[in-house]
Amino acid sequence: MKTTQEQLLDLTLTLQASGLNQGSSGNCSIRHPDGFYITPSGLNPNVMTIDDMVFMDFKGVIQSNQNPAREPSSEWRFHHDILKSRKDANVVIHTHSTFATTLSLFRKDIPAFHYMIAVAGGNSIRCSTYQLFGTQALSDAALIALNERKACLLANHGMIVIGLDIEDALKITYEIERLCEQYCHALQMGLPTILSDEEMKEVIARFKSYGNWDKSEL
Ligand code: 13P
Ligand code: ZN
Repeated sequence: MKTTQEQLLDLTLTLQASGLNQGSSGNCSIRHPDGFYITPSGLNPNVMTIDDMVFMDFKGVIQSNQNPAREPSSEWRFHHDILKSRKDANVVIHTHSTFATTLSLFRKDIPAFHYMIAVAGGNSIRCSTYQLFGTQALSDAALIALNERKACLLANHGMIVIGLDIEDALKITYEIERLCEQYCHALQMGLPTILSDEEMKEVIARFKSYGNWDKSEL
């Protein structure tokens, strides 16, 4: 069994290798008893080691950084606030992935142009207001956009996904990025037809008996 630090290193490398993040863009965290491990700030995953992972408690205090040169991600506030307030979140992924970021530039929610929008937990993927990166204001805006949802866009920035575990969070992240790609393509041909609230209600009901998508939260 890998340690939480090892799992976090694997996760940030996976986000990098899959092209969802590059350089030091984006970050991730994993819940651990009495706090969470978070990736360090401003570091390329390719040069990170497990000693670079920072452990913080739910007061927002650094409890351990094996490498004292490391600071927690500048976005530790929203990781902290999400993991503290959302019992359904054990993993938080933040990306600057191309298509999610492209749509975030318009500061608009993504409507139900495809039924898989339900993976975000409702009939849209909300976009937060714009706030400066690394601020409490951004965390507050993200929590509002994530209310009863598992994913949101951050205006002019990227996206956040929460998951029950690493596999769940990654699965949702890949799906949201693919949906954003599809929506970008669709918008080049005009405005697609949007599923009605009634149609999305049926999708959400059907998801409860479909595959291994999270059933508890729908
Ligand atoms: P960090 O390198 O501090 O994690 O910041 C990257 C980022 O995506 C800020 O929003
Ligand atoms: Zn960011």
